[in-house]
Amino acid sequence: MKCVICHGDEIEAMKVKEEFAVDNNIVYVPVQIPVCKNCGERYYDRRTMQFLEGIEAKISKKEVELEEIGKVLMYSHATS
Ligand SMILES: [Zn+2]
Repeated sequence: MKCVICHGDEIEAMKVKEEFAVDNNIVYVPVQIPVCKNCGERYYDRRTMQFLEGIEAKISKKEVELEEIGKVLMYSHATS
C-alpha cells in the first residue's frame, strides 16, 4: 500500500488519538490505524469510521464515561 499523499510506502499500524470537540472540551479516542510514517496521513477503513462515528454520537449524548486528563486553556490578552 502506498501513501496517496506522498507516495511513500512506509505505512504502519500505529496507535493515535482521534480528537473530538464537544462544547469547549476536547475528547481523545485512542485507535490503532494505518499511518504514513513519512507524512503522517491517517488511513481509516470503514470499520474504524463506523466505530468513531458511533463513539462521537455517544459522546455528544453523554452516554460514555470520560476521564478528565487535563484542561483546555485560552490565552487572554492583557492590554496595557
Ligand atoms: Zn504519506
